[in-house]
Amino acid sequence: TGNLLLQELKGNIRVHCRIRPLLPFDDEAQEPVSPDSSVSGGVVHAVDDETVLVECNRPGHALINKTYTFERVYGPAESQRAVFEDVCPLLTSFLDGYNVCIMAYGQTGSGKSFTMLGPHCQEELALPSEPRGDTGIVPRAAAELFRLISEDPSRSPEVGVSIVEIYNNDIFDLLAKDGCRAASGAKRQVLPTQQGKTVVCGSVRSAAQFLTLVGGGLKLRAKQPTAVHAESSRSHLVITVTLATAASRPAAQQAAVHPCQPGPRSPATGRRQSPPVPLRTRGHGLGRAAPDRLGQVRATLQLVDLAGSECAGVSGVTGPALRETSCINRSLAALSDVLGALAEGRGHIPYRNSRLTHLLQDALGGDAKLQVIVCVSPGQRHMAETLQSLGFGARAR
Ligand code: ADP
Repeated sequence: TGNLLLQELKGNIRVHCRIRPLLPFDDEAQEPVSPDSSVSGGVVHAVDDETVLVECNRPGHALINKTYTFERVYGPAESQRAVFEDVCPLLTSFLDGYNVCIMAYGQTGSGKSFTMLGPHCQEELALPSEPRGDTGIVPRAAAELFRLISEDPSRSPEVGVSIVEIYNNDIFDLLAKDGCRAASGAKRQVLPTQQGKTVVCGSVRSAAQFLTLVGGGLKLRAKQPTAVHAESSRSHLVITVTLATAASRPAAQQAAVHPCQPGPRSPATGRRQSPPVPLRTRGHGLGRAAPDRLGQVRATLQLVDLAGSECAGVSGVTGPALRETSCINRSLAALSDVLGALAEGRGHIPYRNSRLTHLLQDALGGDAKLQVIVCVSPGQRHMAETLQSLGFGARAR
């Protein structure tokens, strides 16, 4: 029971690590290897399905020989499909009423956007047309989600989508107010700081609609790079999918809560709760009884492409660049603190220390399921950042 209790406190966190192939711009001394090779060609290797080895014994460099274990390790030859197949069961959990978060962590250029969105993430997001394509997790998840929904028409869920960017600890809405695709040149809405998790939400009925909405948001993110910041990798991208299923109760009894509205505040803590408690109608393999007093499934799925984790030194940097760097460092440190506190089963989880952890709060801890994909470059040049990223992943487990 001790282990079960710890598991309950920890929530359900899984950490995977993905080593991308060595690419021409890595500028390594070694010959770039083909992406089809299972060896990285760099100093970071997938020893087996669960072990990463960082090994460097080159003259003039510190001797490094460190291994890290994760629930799953992908070498450079692993396909987008293989990565998706491992996270796919989480979509069933989401439909079962669990809050789920899938996030990519790593330095700029390590493959976060490739993993989450695909290789051409600033262009039109396409549905996976063939299984070996390079489509990322988000389009695959959209297709799978609506496939699962179509399998059970009795649920007729209401699916909401929001897409926001967190930059300098401010949240920018990347959807137009009416939930339609953001009009060209539309201004980003800065949400009031106290508004917490309330974000504009569009209702979608198909995977294609979902991707049109997300694609529009990504374009808006890319379109105004100079107005706010130079590179999208300096911001966190959070796509939130909400699910509300009309159950068999009469409509009048169902909670009249829009899927994007926050829940009521707890009288004890003042913290918003996630109402109502989900009804789990499908088996989820955990052997827990489904509560029978509720009639509405409510859950959120958050798909997160984090800002680059590189610790660009703040010395010599001034003005907006300094603020940007320290905001990213602070928010990622806050995320690491939350995951560390959950992993250790601590009572107090410091969600409130950053906008990022506040926004993701419902998907971190409790019985929520979190999947972290730590993305790393194989190259020697990135080794210090790679060690930092692997350390982040190790702390979260
Ligand atoms: P990040 O989002 O972490 O800044 P990107 O996803 O933009 O990094 O990846 C950097 C570059 O590496 C892109 O050109 C991308 O297409 C390429 N890349 C990343 N991961 C892979 C992979 N697994 N296979 C092939 N190319 C990849």
